[in-house]
Amino acid sequence: MMAVSDGSSPMVAQYQRLKAAHPGALLFFRMGDFYELFFDDAVAAAPALDIALTRRGRHQGEEIPMCGVPAHNADPYLQRLIRRGFKVAICEQMEDPAEARKRGGKSLVHRDVVRVVTPGTLTEDVLLDARSNNYLLAVARSQDAYGLAWLDLSTGEVATAPCAREQLGAELGRISPREILLPETWLGDGAGPFADWADRLSPLPSASFESLAGQRSLCRLYAVAALDAFGAFSRAELGAAGALVDYVQLTQKGLVPRLSRPRRVEPGSVMQIDPATRRNLELVASLAGGREGSLLDAIDRTCTGAGGRLLAERLGAPLTDPAAIRSRLDQVEVLVDTGDLREDVRERLKGTPDLQRALSRLSLGRGGPRDLAMLADALERAARLRDRMSGTEVLCGITGRIADLATLAATLATTLTDSPPVLARDGGFVRAGVEPELDELRELRDRSRRLVAALEARYRDETGIATLKVRHNNLIGYHIEVPSQHVGKVPGGFVQRQSMAGAMRYSTPELADLETRIASAGDKAVALELAVFDRLVRSVMEAAEPIAETAAALAELDVAAALAELAVADRYVRPRVDDGLALEIRGGRHPVVEQFQRRQAAAFVANDCALDQSSRLWLLTGPNMAGKSTFLRQNALILVLAQMGSFVPASEARIGVVDRLFSRVGAADDLARGRSTFMVEMVETATILHQAGPRSFVVLDEIGRGTATYDGMSLAWAIVEHLHEANRCRGLFATHFHELTALAARLPALSCHTMRVKEWQGSVVFLHEVGSGTADRSYGVHVARLAGLPAAVLQRAEQVLQTLEAGEAGSAAARLADDLPLFAAVLRQPPPAPQAAPGPSAVEAMLGGINPDELTPREALDLLYRLKDLPGRS
Ligand code: ADP
Repeated sequence: MMAVSDGSSPMVAQYQRLKAAHPGALLFFRMGDFYELFFDDAVAAAPALDIALTRRGRHQGEEIPMCGVPAHNADPYLQRLIRRGFKVAICEQMEDPAEARKRGGKSLVHRDVVRVVTPGTLTEDVLLDARSNNYLLAVARSQDAYGLAWLDLSTGEVATAPCAREQLGAELGRISPREILLPETWLGDGAGPFADWADRLSPLPSASFESLAGQRSLCRLYAVAALDAFGAFSRAELGAAGALVDYVQLTQKGLVPRLSRPRRVEPGSVMQIDPATRRNLELVASLAGGREGSLLDAIDRTCTGAGGRLLAERLGAPLTDPAAIRSRLDQVEVLVDTGDLREDVRERLKGTPDLQRALSRLSLGRGGPRDLAMLADALERAARLRDRMSGTEVLCGITGRIADLATLAATLATTLTDSPPVLARDGGFVRAGVEPELDELRELRDRSRRLVAALEARYRDETGIATLKVRHNNLIGYHIEVPSQHVGKVPGGFVQRQSMAGAMRYSTPELADLETRIASAGDKAVALELAVFDRLVRSVMEAAEPIAETAAALAELDVAAALAELAVADRYVRPRVDDGLALEIRGGRHPVVEQFQRRQAAAFVANDCALDQSSRLWLLTGPNMAGKSTFLRQNALILVLAQMGSFVPASEARIGVVDRLFSRVGAADDLARGRSTFMVEMVETATILHQAGPRSFVVLDEIGRGTATYDGMSLAWAIVEHLHEANRCRGLFATHFHELTALAARLPALSCHTMRVKEWQGSVVFLHEVGSGTADRSYGVHVARLAGLPAAVLQRAEQVLQTLEAGEAGSAAARLADDLPLFAAVLRQPPPAPQAAPGPSAVEAMLGGINPDELTPREALDLLYRLKDLPGRS
């Protein structure tokens, strides 16, 4: 390894020039077998990589911090850095150091950055998750309109969408990009919709987002004169797409990957689901973080990575056009009905290599023989699948896109050996009989190797040293090794090379000659193989479009078969989806809780939900733990499943498409962001009250819990009224304020439902059944008993409650109706200070210093409500 000697050394200058050309990236500076990092890069990377920080040489009087990673095994290090949000510029030696020396003893090896690895531009399987897309996204603005463009470099998929400012958060949540490009001037805007994505932002000069330049970039990329054939893109979308393409070229150092034609997501074509709703419904990740426990995890039966990615994408973006949904459902249905076809299809898909990713790597010059072999295998399987499905009318949308690439597949299969290496430069991947010249070279090499073996036998004979060996290593090549005790018998013609502990190494002119012959035959053979490799890659790239189409068709087939498999295994039914405003679910189940219950050998109780214009809003009451949240969420999830084109966990479902889905839970803990829980609850509720329309579906769970009882109750009251009168949306509202049921008398489309509960021998049994009507009691005292409240407090609470039910609380609802200005007053109040989450001792803390006998009825009621919220939630 070379040393950095002093600050004025030409190498430091070379380093600094390359470093300055790649701001924001760590520079992996190739020196022999290592990538070295210097200065601040080393200081930042060493702890992140858990490697030693050393010091070398001096620069301007200071020692230079340095650390390094082995070049031949850099991927794991890269992976760690990328995971932590770093970008890495890979700088290689562009010539053999021997070449540089020819220019004079002190000449510097020519170096250049060959690629900038960023989280959003990865293509290597080891750096990627097979079942998730890895999106790079750009946002631009033109006047008031925003535009998004995003691509997955590892699969070549590109998409754009126009976007209103207030929808940015929802769109980012849906696409979930690994890296976001935005004009650097926006960074000052403070939080905005990008606050949650702060560690994924890559700001660029505003000029990069210029729409005309973007249009030109795209035309160049797709080699077309105009983009009209691809769709009607807004100026902001063009600006975003331009920035995206430029960034790819910048990071890939001019290599242009194969990219599909941009797909435009038309406004309104997908169900809007904001980030809070996504989180709350645990669509692709559970609240605990991670995939386990999410809807995606529960429904994913796909056999391939590409199928898994498509399923996740569809789940994130349910459709709104009933016809498009029905055509997806048709595909699932046919595979539900024909069990043998489904099983065959799934069997053949299993183990099918990832065509999209292999193709992308090849297009970026990062592929190898193994990618070609994978491609051949996948194409062959695709052809067999197409034959198997021929005649199934409904699937012709899929089969029709599987290209006939038998010739290409055959060429690849007959040219490549059975298990070729990952890297082309390793050689040995071209089958014997393909290239006569290659066969000759290999024969020459093998013959020489046999001659080497013969030489060993002869030397043993001639010297009488039975333990003499001819060996090979990378440092000194072929040599003769003789144990020390026999050195005396070595003939004069042997030239000493190296002395070892216990042995001496020699060479002979004969051996050197054979070695040269082997090496030169080997070099020539590898060069020939590389030429064959390039030829094969070219023929693949010529068919890139049909290959990409085939890959997309296979992914679609995988998703349809997986959803069919799920439907059969978990008894899902085909939903009827139309343009109406009704929602009728018979025997609905929660897809995730149901599976969980099954694993516990417990039954899941199915429930109906029927909303229409005469009964748009359901008010659901019932004690904690009775199953309110489960019921609320299961209906939202059924909607999502239906509109993504899946069968649903119900015995019957009719769904008038929903354009926006909202789901909120009261008093969600969001202390991490430094906002009080109640403030969060109100901010999120405000969004819904502003945005929900007649086609929206709103699920509100215990809204109003985050504040004192009477405030909370009045807020909940006013919110229900607003949803009913102004938003006129469909929705479910769960509450423990059963005073709210009084609203049903005044709001015609509001109907009351309750979780059935049975009292048995002084305790309470939850039936998990939704029935019409209202809960006659809150059972707060029962829950408090479960939580281990002292008996004296419980007795006193029962007493107080009886008094209240007879008097004050009975009239509370009536008084509240006249007291709505309170709502406005509450909203004007400053948010309460952040509070610590209730710990295990919260019950004691709340009761500390309270003498139950001195409580006024109102204080006691407040206390009860608060206590009731503690168990089962924390
Ligand atoms: P709540 O929102 O009323 O406090 P949850 O919906 O959180 O109640 O339900 C509490 C628990 O009851 C769930 O974790 C689940 O184990 C069980 N549960 C809920 N609904 C059902 C159901 N329909 N069938 C069987 N068990 C259920």
